[in-house]
Amino acid sequence: MLPNVVEMLVASGARLVRIMGDMVSRAPNEVWFRRFENVPHRNLVCSRPLLDHVLTDRVLHDPRIRLRENTTVLALDGTAKAVTGVQVKTGDTQETLRADLVVDASGRGTSAPRWLQDLGLPAVEQREVNAGVAYATRLYKAPGSTAARTFPLVNVQANPSKAPGRGGIILPIEDDRWIVTLCGTRGGEPTAENDAFIDFALSLGDPVIGELLKNAEPIGDVKTSRSTANTRRYYEKMKAWPDGFIALGDAIAGYNPVYGHGLSVAAQCALAVRDVLRDHPLTAPGTARRAQRAAARPVGAAWDLAVGQDALYPGASATPPNRVERLLARYVDRCVETGASNPRALAALLDVMSLLKPPTRLFSPDMLVPMLTGPKMKLLTEPPLTEAEREAALR
Ligand SMILES: Cc1cc2nc3c(=O)[nH]c(=O)nc-3n(C[C@H](O)[C@H](O)[C@H](O)COP(=O)(O)OP(=O)(O)OC[C@H]3O[C@@H](n4cnc5c(N)ncnc54)[C@H](O)[C@@H]3O)c2cc1C
Repeated sequence: MLPNVVEMLVASGARLVRIMGDMVSRAPNEVWFRRFENVPHRNLVCSRPLLDHVLTDRVLHDPRIRLRENTTVLALDGTAKAVTGVQVKTGDTQETLRADLVVDASGRGTSAPRWLQDLGLPAVEQREVNAGVAYATRLYKAPGSTAARTFPLVNVQANPSKAPGRGGIILPIEDDRWIVTLCGTRGGEPTAENDAFIDFALSLGDPVIGELLKNAEPIGDVKTSRSTANTRRYYEKMKAWPDGFIALGDAIAGYNPVYGHGLSVAAQCALAVRDVLRDHPLTAPGTARRAQRAAARPVGAAWDLAVGQDALYPGASATPPNRVERLLARYVDRCVETGASNPRALAALLDVMSLLKPPTRLFSPDMLVPMLTGPKMKLLTEPPLTEAEREAALR
């Protein structure tokens, strides 16, 4: 949809990080991934302002697209059978904008369930699985001599079987900065106190993040966030659906950000809608419903992955995981362990985790053969950080 946008981001300072060649990562089951270099998957790493700036710039190059700034949508216009526009407010001025198709992309705080009820539709079924994850994030100047080299992304993931789960990540981003995010589930949350940040990092399952921050200079204060629950609205199951309206991205489902799925799913939803609109006229009765159902497919795949892990935390869900879900979670653990020391299995695992392939890929020979024959290489119990990398952070 936006050709060359990744290249444009990289030209503006974003990094394409090789998974796992440029990463030092400890999996939820406490296994360190080996830094295999021949796996094709990449992480795009940059700040959100850079991402939004490049995307907005790129989109607004299309002369058909107009951006209305400082404008809030207040309600949908139309009936339970068809949405015909939105009521908006810009400053003190309210008006109605007519539309053939209204797309709700207003994120996890969407008001669409209420707006649809206001039009006379029934309440949408919703589900929340909330591991109670709190985030604390602080920006640092890239310490020591790390700015001069491609320093790896460092990640210590929380272990759901040892609540409270605590984890953290160092993301080297543009302008020689590190975004450092620490997180913890109920009873193990990080705080907004600047002085407690490094101690929390040192208290993780492995202290590597705290150690690397020893000589790092912070830029600004710690910021916290609790918008991390997995929340899903099952629009695709509604018996009645109006023409002229769809919801996309986080407005359908938001995930625990720890899994890094949100942007990919939002993009996959948009592609699914594009495919429907190629075969069905925008204004034909039933097109919006078809598009909403198509958008639910990528949502379902990401949802199952995120909830499969998070439902294991105490109090996360009103319906705790059943036997099959627990069995699957244990199988995923085995896949992670296998991928940690075998590059083919790692590629299969990443195909699923990055939403390129369905979870059935975890049962392919690339995964099953190394799983059954056992690891050729020893599982790592220490972070695979080179001495030179460690020293670069400290000097
Ligand atoms: C702490 C955190 C870290 C994350 N990290 C990652 C990550 O590393 N990788 C990843 O892929 N995803 C990540 N995510 C998830 C990602 O941010 C979302 O999945 C993604 O932004 C969803 O895009 P969206 O367009 O659906 O909604 P949003 O990006 O939330 O955009 C919604 C927009 O709608 C506007 N809006 C809301 N209501 C109205 C209204 N009534 N009228 C007008 N405008 C309105 C909002 O101001 C906002 O600009 C993270 C999320 C959080 C909270």
